[in-house]
Amino acid sequence: MRFQDKVAVVTGGASGIGAATVRLFAAEGAKVVVVDMNEGLGHALTDELDEGRTHFIRCDVSDRVALEAAVKDSHDRYGRLDILFNNAGIGCFGKTPDLDPEVWEKVIAVDLSSVFYACRAAIPLMRAAGGGVIVNTASISGLAGDYGFTAYNAAKGAVINYTRALAIDHAREGIRVNALCPGLIDTPLTAVAKQMSGVLDVWLEGIPMGRAGTPEEMAKVVAFLASDDASYVTGAIMIADGGATAGTGQPD
Ligand code: NAD
Repeated sequence: MRFQDKVAVVTGGASGIGAATVRLFAAEGAKVVVVDMNEGLGHALTDELDEGRTHFIRCDVSDRVALEAAVKDSHDRYGRLDILFNNAGIGCFGKTPDLDPEVWEKVIAVDLSSVFYACRAAIPLMRAAGGGVIVNTASISGLAGDYGFTAYNAAKGAVINYTRALAIDHAREGIRVNALCPGLIDTPLTAVAKQMSGVLDVWLEGIPMGRAGTPEEMAKVVAFLASDDASYVTGAIMIADGGATAGTGQPD
């Protein structure tokens, strides 16, 4: 029960890594606000969990006014805000000359700017309470390039360095900030790769552990970073990728 009496906000909490983390936070005692644009999945999740201990707010995180309000409403509902998990994200394919500027703007808004706006709303609340914890979902796609993943690579790379900047700016205020860098995780986001013949096999070949990770495995890493077990961990970029980025790419 590492999160007894704690309050957590999870963006993109209705599905995949976010939903697994909501379940784990709640199982370990937290009150959790799920912030997501998918109303059906969001309500289904909060219905599944204990009445009154979880709450769903429908919000498109690319709407900064709505996102800042969702963070403040979460605080007001439960009287505190201890943990912010910035996890909502989308991907898109397209090399630079072919990428629609609107798609670029959307990916940057959802994957990067939402992290800034949620932190902008949360940090004053955490600071006033003497501290808090922020975990940002980046990706191994923020550490190196993927062919044709232009906007996603840019956004996730920025989330990684923004995490470091946040960590040093707010360390003396008792606020820890870390990033999760998942590799290939079996969620609806990667379901599209499963439908593209051969793509998943190529990805799996590049993973020394030979399999995709699960949302539950990511939730355990997030819970560690969000808990007092990680009390001296801030500014860390936590890779959880089955070894995918550990090698040089040279074949076995
Ligand atoms: P997912 O699609 O299962 O979950 C993403 C959630 O974000 C969904 O509930 C969706 O409704 C929500 N969301 C998307 N856009 C939103 C918006 N504008 N406003 C509010 N909510 C929005 O995917 P996932 O794999 O669990 O992804 C979670 C995070 O993990 C993302 O940031 C993603 O980039 C990152 N990630 C995933 C993988 C992977 O292989 N699955 C790898 C690296 C990083």
